[in-house]
Amino acid sequence: MIVVFLGPPGAGKGTQAKLLSQRLGFLHLSTGDILREAVKKQTPLGIKAKEYMDRGELVPDNLIIALIEEYLPKEGGVILDGFPRTIAQAEALENMLSAKSKKVSKVLLFDSPDEVIIDRLSGRRVCSNCGAVYHIKYNPPKKEGVCDLCGGSLVQREDDKEEVIKNRLEVYKRQTQPLIDFYKKKGIIYRLDATKSVEELFAEVEGIIKDGG
Ligand code: ADP
Ligand code: AMP
Repeated sequence: MIVVFLGPPGAGKGTQAKLLSQRLGFLHLSTGDILREAVKKQTPLGIKAKEYMDRGELVPDNLIIALIEEYLPKEGGVILDGFPRTIAQAEALENMLSAKSKKVSKVLLFDSPDEVIIDRLSGRRVCSNCGAVYHIKYNPPKKEGVCDLCGGSLVQREDDKEEVIKNRLEVYKRQTQPLIDFYKKKGIIYRLDATKSVEELFAEVEGIIKDGG
């Protein structure tokens, strides 16, 4: 089963995808996480991607599509978190899957007003060692600035700084929002009110994914 998580940056897609992976065994495939790892290791992809990521722009489609071709597993449940983000990526995904007689089962749209997104992104902190995600108000670590899981130090992502957040929201509206109609036409999109709490949202996400319809 292939499920796409669609929605603005900071809506809580990664948080829910991690829970689904822990509790229901889905593979969590986040293009953002893969790219950040590549940047950290300074691979050729990471070096190319960094300049786009730091500005809050999308990394070119050809690089992202090649990355998904490499990482998409042959079978099992997969959550695609942060991909596709353009119509070209969505079409490439369709072609990739139809070659294996597969398709996207469901698309969950994490809907949230800009003020909630800004509040979530500006308070997000991530572990510089293991990548765990916190929020200074909504999911604080036990000890300020320190990861509960590995003791690594918590940092703010470069692209979670105020000037970049604004651009990321614009990029989302311009390049990614058209996917809502793309998937609406296929009748596989489910809207979630992403302003709800983590556990309330999880109950809804789980309900949609387990429901055969
Ligand atoms: P995305 O993957 O969509 O960019 P994240 O899952 O990283 O978003 O969440 C963005 C920030 O908001 C993080 O700091 C996270 O801890 C926090 N967060 C996620 N879901 C919720 C929620 N339902 N309520 C409050 N804060 C949340
Ligand atoms: P995310 O962690 O999903 O917020 O992604 C962080 C950044 O990685 C984005 O702002 C883009 O620069 C890049 N990125 C992640 N996924 C994609 C994608 N599917 N297409 C293009 N760029 C992406």
